[in-house]
Amino acid sequence: MDNCIFCKIANGEILSATLYEDEDFRVILDLGPASKGHALILPKTHAANIYELSDELAGKAMILAKKMAKKLTDALNCDGFNIVQNNGEVAGQTVFHFHMHLIPRYKGDGVGLTWTPGKLSDEDRDDILHKVNN
Ligand code: 5GP
Ligand code: ZN
Repeated sequence: MDNCIFCKIANGEILSATLYEDEDFRVILDLGPASKGHALILPKTHAANIYELSDELAGKAMILAKKMAKKLTDALNCDGFNIVQNNGEVAGQTVFHFHMHLIPRYKGDGVGLTWTPGKLSDEDRDDILHKVNN
């Protein structure tokens, strides 16, 4: 993808603060961090979102997320960890190259990743089970 900033960063055409690199991925520090150590896992090949990502890279990305969560937690001594991945504008995606957010969490950090819980209605439960399982 010629005009994709994360393609350029992942492949080293644009310099970034890199925490890890292998043949498939680069892990960089987010320029607008939610917390100290907020990093992004970028595949080197372009996929706009999880729907376009290959099964092989999806599996490798999750294993890498686990490895980086441990590494960042040990290095930064954070108290918890969020892994977030947005797909589509309505879901908060702003850069349309698949990425996973690695967000170290610290007691009292005020990072807002929460939502107001609703209540699962019988109608929605039945509708979803019917649509997904048929
Ligand atoms: P999204 O909202 O698409 O899930 O996340 C995009 C993330 O990429 C944001 O957290 C934003 O701060 C980060 N970001 C956007 N442009 C750049 C950039 O050029 N370099 C880096 N390191 N992070 C970026
Ligand atoms: Zn891209």
